[in-house]
Amino acid sequence: MSDTVLGCTKLAKIYQQGAVEVKVLAGVDLEVRAGDLVSIVGASGSGKSTLLHLLGGLDSATSGAVSILGQAMQSLTEAARGRLRNESLGFVYQFHHLLMEFTALENVAMPLLIRRMPAAEAQSRAAAILEEVGLGSRLAHTPAELSGGERQRAALAQALVTRPACVLADAPPGNLD
Ligand code: ADP
Ligand code: MG
Repeated sequence: MSDTVLGCTKLAKIYQQGAVEVKVLAGVDLEVRAGDLVSIVGASGSGKSTLLHLLGGLDSATSGAVSILGQAMQSLTEAARGRLRNESLGFVYQFHHLLMEFTALENVAMPLLIRRMPAAEAQSRAAAILEEVGLGSRLAHTPAELSGGERQRAALAQALVTRPACVLADAPPGNLD
């Protein structure tokens, strides 16, 4: 379907732990269209993070296929896969990956600077999105100077600043109001 931004078919993941096979996912089909809000709910250890990692191309499946914006991930080179992931997806991790020695503004501007956006424009976009998540008065704070929920909102701003087609968030309500 043309407006499918993220999908998978028959996705399976088995972790090999020495002689033991840990079967986590067994044939997941999923289709996420533009504008969809999808929640994946399950007990701890049921495979939610594993699924997100496979969908985001951070880990590879035992079998099955993942597609982003209609492109089959396994048909791409490592470099093309990285590019597609970088340009189409935003990630919010269960534990934030903000860089502790940088301010909220610098952290949120980072994904844009990596794409070679001029610094002034990157900073003004980062400031605007931090404003949107209610951190307009915390631009110069480092992560250590933010509350847990504020850190999570900064991480959300960092995931959204590149205007990705789809955001993958692992247990996003943690610390959030
Ligand atoms: P959830 O996010 O739903 O809590 P996970 O996807 O993190 O669950 O883990 C699903 C299962 O896979 C768990 O039982 C976990 O122990 C196992 N698992 C996760 N990562 C690995 C790994 N690298 N090696 C072996 N087993 C793993
Ligand atoms: Mg998890």
